[in-house]
Amino acid sequence: MDRIAKVLQTHELSHQELVEFLRSDRYDEALFHAADQTRERYVGNDVHLKGLLEFSNICTRTCHYCGLRVENRFIKRYKLSSEEILSFARKAIDYGYKTIVLQSGESHSYSMEAMCDIIASIRALGATVTLSLGEKSEAEYQAYKEAGANRYLLRIETTDKALYQSLHPQMSFENRLKCLRILKELGYETGSGSLVGLPGQSITSLANDLLFFKQSDFDMIGIGPFIPSENTPLAQVKGGEFTMALKMTALVRLLLPKINIPATTAMETLDPNGRAIALKSGANVVMPVITEGEYRALYRLYPGKICIDDTPKHCRLCISGKIIAIGRGIADTNGDSERFIVRQKEQRNFYDANA
Ligand code: SAM
Repeated sequence: MDRIAKVLQTHELSHQELVEFLRSDRYDEALFHAADQTRERYVGNDVHLKGLLEFSNICTRTCHYCGLRVENRFIKRYKLSSEEILSFARKAIDYGYKTIVLQSGESHSYSMEAMCDIIASIRALGATVTLSLGEKSEAEYQAYKEAGANRYLLRIETTDKALYQSLHPQMSFENRLKCLRILKELGYETGSGSLVGLPGQSITSLANDLLFFKQSDFDMIGIGPFIPSENTPLAQVKGGEFTMALKMTALVRLLLPKINIPATTAMETLDPNGRAIALKSGANVVMPVITEGEYRALYRLYPGKICIDDTPKHCRLCISGKIIAIGRGIADTNGDSERFIVRQKEQRNFYDANA
């Protein structure tokens, strides 16, 4: 309990302390409670709802865990037109979303110019734009920023370099780090995160992930349990555990009290109440899917994806009900993280002082 009292004050934990929290279940209830208290104190009671638009499942990568990997010949590939993307975004904004998260597999199926037009058009509708498109060149990241993109999500997935390399053929851990550094330098509100329960992932490496997030001072961290997906090299292995992903979420909140932390969809796939539980253990964001029709099911990273037969309107009402049922509100601001707001103020003060 001393350790909990200490982290509530300092928001620092050593590698050894993190390992002990992750290894033992003795502190779990105290840990979840402390994360919830920290969330309330630093980012308040309101939950940010951000609309996730999964606009293409075309992917050129071969990530061993992901159902979208190029070698999976068993999924029907799709690519929404710019008009469809804008139409889904417009409807989501009408339902009350203030942020549109554009996510896709990693490919060049949209030219840089086409992406810039889509970003600018969504910004013109009054929404904040988050991108989750994977690894791109610095020129592309810059062009998207200039077109109006505000935020970028790129999970490191794991900080265990050897594990990263074994799961991501033809990709490089160094390039992943480079992309994250460039995104931060370009002024994106930058999010990262990891998968929990990958085969060969140790408690020690999960503790390293947490220290990496702390040291990198990210604005958002998404933690998802790994869910084995059919037609991938990891189809038959054991998946991640809900409680371990929850502990990682709680520890992220304790180490980085002012950031945004989503209650991830994968958590709800493992437990029908998973997002509400995560919201009570440090999370303050939910990203309901706003893609419509058959595309919801076709964006299949793993089996058991929730809400594939629902409409975006129904999903928003449903998750709002769950949020209100646990005594929380729905935020009506644009969803910048408190950490990002503080950093921007610090930068303004620095420029004023040096003007
Ligand atoms: N292409 C972009 C990228 O690589 O960042 C965004 C799309 S990617 C499919 C989004 C996230 O899905 C990944 O960061 C990964 O953590 C998660 N994901 C993929 N396969 C998964 C699985 N089997 N279980 C849980 N999460 C998975």
